[in-house]
Amino acid sequence: MSDVQKDDAVNLLGLDLDGLKSFFAEIGEKPFRASQVMKWIHQFGVSDFDDMTNLSKALREKLKASCVIRVPEIVIDQTSNDGTRKWLLRLDNNNCIETVYIPENDRGTLCISSQVGCALECTFCATAKQGFNRNLAAWEIIGQMWVAHKMLGAEPKERKVTNVVFMGMGEPLLNLKHVIPTAKILMDDNAYGLSKRRVTISTSGVVPAMDNIFKEIDVSLAISLHAPNDELRDVLVPINQKYPLKELMAACQRYIDGGTSKRHILIEYVMLKDVNDQPKHAREMIRLLKGMPVKVNLIPFNPFEDSGYETTASNDTYAFQTILHNAGIRTTTRKTRGDDIDAACGQLAGKVKDRTRRTQQYTEIPVSDLIG
Ligand code: SAH
Repeated sequence: MSDVQKDDAVNLLGLDLDGLKSFFAEIGEKPFRASQVMKWIHQFGVSDFDDMTNLSKALREKLKASCVIRVPEIVIDQTSNDGTRKWLLRLDNNNCIETVYIPENDRGTLCISSQVGCALECTFCATAKQGFNRNLAAWEIIGQMWVAHKMLGAEPKERKVTNVVFMGMGEPLLNLKHVIPTAKILMDDNAYGLSKRRVTISTSGVVPAMDNIFKEIDVSLAISLHAPNDELRDVLVPINQKYPLKELMAACQRYIDGGTSKRHILIEYVMLKDVNDQPKHAREMIRLLKGMPVKVNLIPFNPFEDSGYETTASNDTYAFQTILHNAGIRTTTRKTRGDDIDAACGQLAGKVKDRTRRTQQYTEIPVSDLIG
């Protein structure tokens, strides 16, 4: 490894336990170093080898020469009136992403991004308007958890973040290479030790990738359904033209059948006034989901400029929920959180784009000057 340039050096932050083991083998060290270093990085929030006090000085020097622990840089740290907290993280000169922490009575959920922008063109999503920039590397995805754990002041095994949802920017199933090791780190007892029920991958329905990911990891699944028939879904979630509902539902069934323990699926459904929120849509949904172990989460549409959509009135949402509920489908309506700081679903794009552009323009200016 000695001839590796520091700039291209392996970043230990993004390696899961197997990755760390291979790395230590490569530099001629014992495999147990992997769990030791993993604990330092993820449980103790250490990014400086000199703070790893149970490693010999010689080993610390060797590590400094052969790898790095690079973490995302916090550009903005905002807290909403309702306690929702959002971090704008800078990854490189051109790219920023947002991560949102949502505290509730019995849990703390972290909503993380898997791509900068998104290649899918769901018509009601602000991220889609931004276009696709690039996939995030594993260190950039797990780095969001690392930042949250540290900034929330969590003790090594304390779980301030009890749940992680891949519901920020991007389509996680189009970045499997980096999402899989990230999920492994989230669930590793040497790192954050989250159970499979508490790590949720949300997808708009990339059917082949659904089969691939669940061969590798056992996590919870959320489907961004948003329409109960192909005609409407082809418009709202255009990837439906490639993988229509029949195929999506079959993939969901394979997921349910493939689990070692009982699985269920979370169905996300954004409520768009006069578009997908009528009683007939609820009835179609009942037929579509019949017999499947699902929980439906209705999401109030968060408007953004020129979206062309409106938010369903809350009594209409309630009526929709009641139809599903009466058919025996567990249904909840998501509370909109953090909208005063643009941290609500689908709002993570516009402002980032502006800031990203600013960052591009002023790459020479220290990040502290970009705040505010
Ligand atoms: N690409 C993945 C992960 C993103 S999840 C997926 O589609 O599942 C983000 C969730 O927020 C999705 O369910 C998405 O459809 C929803 N969403 C997007 N824009 C929204 C908006 N303007 N208002 C409410 N929810 C929105």
